[in-house]
Amino acid sequence: MERLTNYIGGRNVATENYLENVEPATGQVYCLVPDSGLKETRAAVDAAVRAFESWSTTPAQERARWLHRMADEIEKNFEAFAQAESRDTGKPVALARRMDIPRAIANLRFFAGAILHVESESYSTDSPRAVNYVSRRPIGPAACISPWNLPLYLFTWKVAPALAAGCTVVAKPSELAPYTAWMWGNICEAMDLPPGVFNIVHGTGANAGAPLVQDPRIRAVSFTGGTATGALIQQYARFKKTSLELGGKNPAVVFADCDYSAALNETVRSSFANQGQICLCTSRILVEKKIFDRFCDDFVALAQELVPGDPALETTRFGALISLPHRQKVERAVERARQEGGTILTGGDGVVVPGRCEKGYFFPPTVVVGLGPETQTNQEEIFGPVVALLPFEDEAEALRLANAVEYGLAATVWTRDLGRAHRIAQRVEAGVVWVNCWLLRDLRTPFGGMKNSGVGREGGFEALKFFTETQNVCIALEA
Ligand code: NAD
Repeated sequence: MERLTNYIGGRNVATENYLENVEPATGQVYCLVPDSGLKETRAAVDAAVRAFESWSTTPAQERARWLHRMADEIEKNFEAFAQAESRDTGKPVALARRMDIPRAIANLRFFAGAILHVESESYSTDSPRAVNYVSRRPIGPAACISPWNLPLYLFTWKVAPALAAGCTVVAKPSELAPYTAWMWGNICEAMDLPPGVFNIVHGTGANAGAPLVQDPRIRAVSFTGGTATGALIQQYARFKKTSLELGGKNPAVVFADCDYSAALNETVRSSFANQGQICLCTSRILVEKKIFDRFCDDFVALAQELVPGDPALETTRFGALISLPHRQKVERAVERARQEGGTILTGGDGVVVPGRCEKGYFFPPTVVVGLGPETQTNQEEIFGPVVALLPFEDEAEALRLANAVEYGLAATVWTRDLGRAHRIAQRVEAGVVWVNCWLLRDLRTPFGGMKNSGVGREGGFEALKFFTETQNVCIALEA
């Protein structure tokens, strides 16, 4: 069986222990992943420390060239990356082709370009006369830890700005979806990226992630994952700079004056894309009372068109969940919704996809109604294809419902009333607000959550700044 390797100090290296990696669509083990621990994370941090002096003083143009070369190689192997991402996660291969791999390439190219356009501030002081300028230098070896739902997409989203900014990196992909990160490591080895600049350590959060974050030589930690894990990371990191992109319970607010067809179609997509396993997915759909019944009927009809199928087929639009424990978590959430008094309008039980996928982890789009905002179903992140619809009377109630959770990652608003769109946007507690659209991303914009959805912002210059240490230099102009 294929054994993946860590990429440390410029070389692919084997470990003593391995974890089994399962294809979610079939339930079959198909490769082994290094089960790294303290020994491997130390070796990777050693390499990153050794490489830091040279990489952090490498001209930005040259660092940018390396990122472009990585993007070129991923582009050359585009189809292999898309197939691997689909197999590793259970997502439809068509989605990996359309979203994951293009975005990974775009991340590398974007930060390669952005680092060439960094500006810095200066402040003149008039009495006594002085000038201040702000200098930002690479902060040091950085740790990047990412989840399984958008593996290469989120891995590159962290590693690219770190490398562009001049940091060396030790990165840990999710143990549930490590394959494309490993492929990227192979590319780096083949192109002779200077040793230690970028290191990939595979393994579990407890064995590999925790010692990596705790290593005192790591200066910044960029983490994306669940809120409970984020709380641990913050403890382990002590005084290191941290960026935490965490969970969500995102509302879509649908007003009666919206473009109905656009709101309906996009809300189905925002609810069930990647089987509902995107941190930005909608999970609470708030609909103005006068269109509530019609919207429910139409929403359910469209959700039923998303039939779970083999992710490897071109025609499949809805794939498998990431793992058996995750499907069981989703099943428990639906059971709880029933116990809380909710009505399941469609879905609700795991399904079998016959043939090669009969042991896969499939769960259909599931729609719940009849539950209040205080129920656990409407409070806790499920991170699967389960949404609840709730009616609201007016703008004030919509806003109250939208903000009635501990999370604050993303919100979508559907209305033709421009004033109302702005009013909601300004008062909704969400770091990202989409009006009459969803997942329209411009990589220059700040990205991140409020409340328990995170600390800090990624994207554009925010990400580049994160990986630097800011220093003010004040020069007196008069003796
Ligand atoms: P997770 O928190 O279980 O794991 C994320 C990563 O952290 C993995 O690489 C894991 O191995 C590692 N990890 C786990 N425990 C650790 C520890 N104690 N120390 C160090 N590292 C540790 O999350 P997941 O199940 O992989 O991903 C799903 C979650 O991620 C959801 O909550 C989702 O909302 C969130 N997410 C957030 C964003 C965002 O941008 N805000 C994006 C995608 C996913």
